[in-house]
Amino acid sequence: MATFNPKIIHVPNIDHSTKKKYTNLIREAISELYIESRHAAILFKILSSYNERIIITNKDPSPFVSSSCIYPKVIYPEREHTYGNCVVIVIPPNYNGHIDSVKPLEDYNNSNDVNATLIFKLHNCIPLEKEIDYDTLISLRIIKRSQHFKIYFAHELLHAYHYFNNTFDGSNQEIEESAVIYGIENIKISYYDNHNLKEVYITENIIRSDYGYYPRISHNFERSI
Ligand SMILES: [Zn+2]
Repeated sequence: MATFNPKIIHVPNIDHSTKKKYTNLIREAISELYIESRHAAILFKILSSYNERIIITNKDPSPFVSSSCIYPKVIYPEREHTYGNCVVIVIPPNYNGHIDSVKPLEDYNNSNDVNATLIFKLHNCIPLEKEIDYDTLISLRIIKRSQHFKIYFAHELLHAYHYFNNTFDGSNQEIEESAVIYGIENIKISYYDNHNLKEVYITENIIRSDYGYYPRISHNFERSI
């Protein structure tokens, strides 16, 4: 059976113990996601055919890195040639951050709520018709939750998945983030799930749901308020 085994590069690579620690961190994240999340396992199965084109690294290879650059991040081959024709995932170790999520379903108990359908879809990992706009984000009464390293990592791998499937090329970042986080209807890579006998659309939220985590609803809302 094909396994997901991307190339892992720690920079600088002269310090062997730090390098080994980083490699173990990534390998552990992969094996834990594989065991704990059925949808991450599907993602790995798909990505395993692209192993030689995925580089995971702790440091941005770009020569001119802006101080406003947010990590973790994904870099497509058209943007950065340090590692050849590869999708580069830059994910620093011990990364700690927060994401915006919705409240539990029962907290939106008014069925007349204009957002009722949206909330239902988010909680059931059904792709949305379009991106969630600013006013809707405000009305959803967002909760900040800490994001586990494994989920950050899975999020970046989902960008690689869309890239290899030619759904995005990095030119429309906002829609790309929405498709990666909660899914957009017409930007869909169908995968037939033999377990549930239905088509699935792999997103960060469906992987979060495998852990019982609440749906995420934005990429960087916090910076826009
Ligand atoms: Zn992203």
